Amino acid sequence: MSAVKFECRSLGFPCEWALRAGSKAEIVERVREHARCAHNMGELSTDLLVKVEHAIVPA
Ligand SMILES: [Zn+2]
Repeated sequence: MSAVKFECRSLGFPCEWALRAGSKAEIVERVREHARCAHNMGELSTDLLVKVEHAIVPA
């Protein structure tokens, strides 16, 4: 599995948070946590999850 990365601002947030991980699943988990803690969001909507998936790119 190759490394992937994600930047929060690709979802439209004025946020510098970014991460790199070994798999998409790991990023999705961390994004759920970050969205809850940093952006006061509850569960991610299906729309947002789709955006997250698209924003995950090879590192
Ligand atoms: Zn953020």
